[in-house]
Amino acid sequence: KDTDFIDFFNKIIDRFEMTKSQEVTFRRKLPRYPIYVTIDQDKLTQVIDNIISNALKYSPEGGLVSFKVEEHGNTIQISISDQGMGIPKKSLDRIFERFYRVDRARSRKMGGTGLGLAIAKELITAHGGHIWAKSVEGKGTTIFFTLPADLSEEDDWE
Ligand code: ATP
Ligand code: MG
Repeated sequence: KDTDFIDFFNKIIDRFEMTKSQEVTFRRKLPRYPIYVTIDQDKLTQVIDNIISNALKYSPEGGLVSFKVEEHGNTIQISISDQGMGIPKKSLDRIFERFYRVDRARSRKMGGTGLGLAIAKELITAHGGHIWAKSVEGKGTTIFFTLPADLSEEDDWE
């Protein structure tokens, strides 16, 4: 029932790192100790797969994709950053709407339906978390999401 998020996340990143065809570098900044969360692994896999696919889809050759996990009290914050074309400010919230895509020409070339992040938002919300984006056009994009972490040490004494 309890999943070590660090191990779970590392395995997903490994899968992308082994199969990616582009010249893109992965960088991980993850704690070296386990952080337990209660999640539906299939659904979280779907969320993370989409975010990483987007990061790769919009990354330039030679770009860097960074993965980070930070603890903030009883929540963990996960972020995935790329050095791609970025997202205009006015579109930043809209990318989580169904079928919303930043620009039609760009999107047609890139493929996809515009559902990935809408589904991600639904699934993260259902897990008690939040999801949002920060981006600078021409520099890159970071997608953040949070998940409640299971209270650790104290519980061991009960
Ligand atoms: P699908 O995920 O259904 O295959 P999609 O990737 O186009 O299609 P979303 O994942 O929902 O759809 O993303 C919505 C839109 O947000 C994308 O079409 C793209 O315009 C923009 N977007 C998402 N991630 C990034 C990113 N890392 N860099 C630049 N634009 C992005
Ligand atoms: Mg997508």
